[in-house]
Amino acid sequence: MANVCAFCGKPLGLLGRENLVCGGTSQPVCKECWGKYLDVSDRERVETLLRSGHPEDPDKLRQSYEAQRRREEEARSARLSGLTCPRCGGAMLRRGRQTFKLGEETLFFSDLNRLASGSLELELLACEKCGKVEFYLPAGKRKQA
Ligand SMILES: [Zn+2]
Ligand SMILES: [Zn+2]
Repeated sequence: MANVCAFCGKPLGLLGRENLVCGGTSQPVCKECWGKYLDVSDRERVETLLRSGHPEDPDKLRQSYEAQRRREEEARSARLSGLTCPRCGGAMLRRGRQTFKLGEETLFFSDLNRLASGSLELELLACEKCGKVEFYLPAGKRKQA
């Protein structure tokens, strides 16, 4: 069992030794690092460990990290809309459909108000870089001109 802090490499005594779960592995950490990394996302912790730390079980940690990255990449590909952000050129990712009630409060959609009544379902796209959001009519509801 390693007796150094997985993050800073400081030797750990029996006292002042904490454990932090990172990427599905339990890592020994010093008190300072425990406090510092407790609120950091698991992904950031694992990246820090792989980049500059002294993790226990580095192979398992790397595998778990890469599996997680692949899952995220697959989830991202599934959301790719094929459109690019008009502002920064980033990829616009589909964020699901939203139903808007049409009424006085929807001045934003005043043109559409004349075309439809009731509620309007729109597809929300968000830029993964700058966060710009755009709405589109869902593919099946676009007018075939
Ligand atoms: Zn430490
Ligand atoms: Zn953008």
